Amino acid sequence: MTIHYYRDYKCRKCGLPYIPLPNASKCPYCGYPADQVFEDFMDSSLESVSYNINSWGIILPAAWGVFTAGDNYYLAGFYLLHSLYFKYLSENPGPQYLLHYRISLKELFEKISTKEECITKAKDMIMKSLSKVEDDKEKALLKHINIFLMRICDKFSEEK
Ligand SMILES: [Zn+2]
Repeated sequence: MTIHYYRDYKCRKCGLPYIPLPNASKCPYCGYPADQVFEDFMDSSLESVSYNINSWGIILPAAWGVFTAGDNYYLAGFYLLHSLYFKYLSENPGPQYLLHYRISLKELFEKISTKEECITKAKDMIMKSLSKVEDDKEKALLKHINIFLMRICDKFSEEK
């Protein structure tokens, strides 16, 4: 199994499913204020990453169903961390190549990448996704997911 985000949310005005984040809680499409803020979202998403690593030895689950608005954010976060980790592995061959090597969240943020690399990768991911999307609501959601990714990048230290 995997850990999904248990709460769901939709804009009360335009119906966009998104996560009202602290300091980014208004609807990214229509700007309507959210009636709640999901303060626990960042911590929950990292717990889910930690669970994937501890249970499966991987950051990105082989199968991930999107059941709530938050699951889209989680998936983007998994992709981001997975691609940074993959780059680290290719540049640092060693015991981490062993199947089911467990990296802790602390190691993940201290060792595998830098804040700068993370931001570059996240922007690249979002730009690529935006170029494939026509719908304005989906574009607005992607930009909001980018805010979440930037907060993940804040967890990396500036220097390796
Ligand atoms: Zn809205």
